[in-house]
Amino acid sequence: AINMSQLQLEDEELGKGNYGTVKKVLHKPTNVAMAMKEIRLELDQAKLNAIIMELDVLHRAVAPEIVDFYGAFFIESCVYYCMEYMDAGSLDKLIQPYSPRSASAFPAAPSMVRGLKFLKDDLNIIHRDVKPTNVLVNRKGQVKLCDFGVSGQLDKSMARTNIGCQSYMAPERIRGESRVLYGAYTVSSDVWSLGLSIIELGLGRYPYPPETYSNVFAQLTAIVHGPPPCLPSGPPPSSLEDWVNRCMKKEPLERATYKELLEHPWLRNNAALDVDVERWVRCAVQARTRPIR
Ligand code: ADP
Repeated sequence: AINMSQLQLEDEELGKGNYGTVKKVLHKPTNVAMAMKEIRLELDQAKLNAIIMELDVLHRAVAPEIVDFYGAFFIESCVYYCMEYMDAGSLDKLIQPYSPRSASAFPAAPSMVRGLKFLKDDLNIIHRDVKPTNVLVNRKGQVKLCDFGVSGQLDKSMARTNIGCQSYMAPERIRGESRVLYGAYTVSSDVWSLGLSIIELGLGRYPYPPETYSNVFAQLTAIVHGPPPCLPSGPPPSSLEDWVNRCMKKEPLERATYKELLEHPWLRNNAALDVDVERWVRCAVQARTRPIR
């Protein structure tokens, strides 16, 4: 098992989330660079132990589309979670403005769908927090998911369904139906969040902009009562727009399944185009580091 004495802290802070910070560390025994997430929780020892045990499932979550998990430990009331270091960071930092002619600007989509399908089919895990900051990319061109809900205790302690300034929650989750019909929290809520994330990539901004929705309440009201967001379309709508529309159904049962999304012409043709994701990441990282004029 991994522990703090094996880790050497690098200067670089990779990011700050709602619950703690992510730092780059070196695992000295193996010389592997890792990302260590520190989550501060005010919990007793028994609950912390339960969290560490529940996180153990992550050792089985091994797939090309899932960020590798190396182990977790706690010190005092902090949980430290060690995972694969992804050197191009999260997808939100690679967002580029939409150009309708290059559907290949969305090379993250196939990996996201395959990753979500793997979690569901092989481990019976629903992600519950699909959004661009939870999709990580590296310079090898790999796109991987992280931060999925495997620990009920950790979820409870962090109130994972947090209302941040940008909500990716499906309408039925905002309305709280998942609590009424326990077990009805289905995989289709993740499909909404997936569609919303792809629209954000396409538009180059979160689809419910703060200029229009001046507070969280207005935003959540629009998600529940307004028409679903979409990408500006044709006519006729491109296969990408159709793909996104199949994710963004207000009624969960009408949303596409992962299988349908993978078999949809947009992803099939995308695969045929053989998108060079490595190049895409390289260009996006370059664009990011270029000074804004
Ligand atoms: P959030 O709560 O917004 O999901 P996190 O605490 O999970 O944020 O992570 C904060 C930021 O740290 C992410 O947006 C990402 O840019 C960076 N980060 C997280 N995990 C990794 C990783 N494994 N490798 C590289 N960067 C990471």
